[in-house]
Amino acid sequence: VPERDPLSARAAATPDATALIDVETDREWTYAAFDRRVDRVARVLGELGDGEPPPDRLGVLMDTRPAFAVVFFAAVRTGTTVVPLNVRETVPELADKVERTSLEAIVCERGTESTAVELADRAGGCSVASADDPERVDDGVRSLDVLEDGDATDAAPEPDTRGRIDPETTQLIMFTSGTSGDPKGVELTLANLVASATASAFRLGVDPADRWLCCLPMYHMGGLAPVIRSTLYGTTVVIQREFTARETAHVLEEYDVTGVSLVPTMCKRLLECDRGSDGDGEDGWQPPDTLRFVLLGGAPATDDLLERCLDRGVPVHPTYGMTETASQIATATPDEVRRYEGTVGRPLVGTEVSVVDDDGDPVEPGEPGELVVAGPTVTPGYLEPAVTEAAFDERGLHTGDVGYRDEGGRLRILNRRSDRIVTGGENVDPGEVVDALLEHPAVDEAAVVGLPDEEWGERVSALLVPTGDDLEYASVLTHCDDRLAGFKRPKTLAVADELPRTASGTVDRDAVRKRLLEDGL
Ligand code: ATP
Ligand code: MG
Repeated sequence: VPERDPLSARAAATPDATALIDVETDREWTYAAFDRRVDRVARVLGELGDGEPPPDRLGVLMDTRPAFAVVFFAAVRTGTTVVPLNVRETVPELADKVERTSLEAIVCERGTESTAVELADRAGGCSVASADDPERVDDGVRSLDVLEDGDATDAAPEPDTRGRIDPETTQLIMFTSGTSGDPKGVELTLANLVASATASAFRLGVDPADRWLCCLPMYHMGGLAPVIRSTLYGTTVVIQREFTARETAHVLEEYDVTGVSLVPTMCKRLLECDRGSDGDGEDGWQPPDTLRFVLLGGAPATDDLLERCLDRGVPVHPTYGMTETASQIATATPDEVRRYEGTVGRPLVGTEVSVVDDDGDPVEPGEPGELVVAGPTVTPGYLEPAVTEAAFDERGLHTGDVGYRDEGGRLRILNRRSDRIVTGGENVDPGEVVDALLEHPAVDEAAVVGLPDEEWGERVSALLVPTGDDLEYASVLTHCDDRLAGFKRPKTLAVADELPRTASGTVDRDAVRKRLLEDGL
């Protein structure tokens, strides 16, 4: 890991290469321009605490946009830990995170300025700066000068603003998606981030002409990782504020994108979108020729989705990873997808994955167990020491995910330990029930959870998204009778227009439970 700022190395090597493209404004920044902006923001960060040294921890309450990348790399330069905050959360949810991370400053944008001021007021001793022109100067909101123009006339940055960096200090505190409970704060070092970029490049191969599209939220690892990686590689990242199937299909073509990370639901919408590559949309979406990688992660991709991708010539690469491992630690190629059902591929170089039983002992290949990971991308720990202590043992980090390794070392993810339903003393894998439900022609999507049940402890319950209007519960139940043992069949059913999901695309199981308790039959 370099001890110099990674961006300044890139800017020195390829100053004229394109670093960032903003879809919203169609503006581009070269590495030299990106570097100059980062330098200016680093200087403002230095002054945020009234001439004090830069803040130790900086909250970033911004949506997905190039200014986020500028603030991130400025913080790398000043040795400041970045704490991305989810712009979709409410003030009480955010205030909890501000408190847990003891933020000294928050960077906001136009749309989040009042929230940032409110959070800073509650926290006390926390300053606010805006990436846009601040509207609340009287509340002490400063301008970060992120978007200031004048690249051509800018003097070269002072060499002394580019201090040495310590790869082992915490660069990022990223919150998990909160699928299984409250989001956990994960500490990631610059060394973790560089290791993750290197391992991914080793598996996928990187070309200087690569263009990555970032259309996932940058306050989650799935959105921030492509931006950090692209900068380390010296390639281009195209930033789209929000995914929408038609717009994203257009962006993939318009900007000659070579790689994109998506959650499975986005990929599904893309396949169903009516924009053909020649614009007539007759045969549905066709991937442009430039596209080499479609990384799918964050949630399981169904066999049906993967098959449709392959049929359509989509270069689909299912991945497995988590915030705690600075995004993916296993990636499968389209060829592996074709040959090994449900695989997420082999672990990336440097990452060790053990599969263990409930006593923590390794199981044989093909046997399911909890995945335990170790390696250079794995977090040194969570914000709260007690959480770290519970999650780590001598083998590494217990992921809470259940899966197995095949004879060839490829992983398959089955479910989460906490999702297991125990009904009448029998264990039920919700994934197996979902698979059976999806085989019904009128079922488009399904989520299966356990609801409390006086007689059985838990009862298997399903929320269904129908393909059309003609979904009949009776027909679904008969369908299940033919495929599942009695104790696995859903006892409670409800339908919804879509499944409730977290921002990372995982099914929000708590919301599913609530929905079933309210509407379930
Ligand atoms: P929390 O930890 O707060 O419950 P979360 O685990 O959903 O939230 P993330 O770190 O964003 O937060 O997601 C990582 C999790 O996503 C993994 O632990 C795993 O459960 C799931 N996941 C990721 N990739 C896959 C995959 N290919 N198949 C199945 N599940 C996956
Ligand atoms: Mg998790």
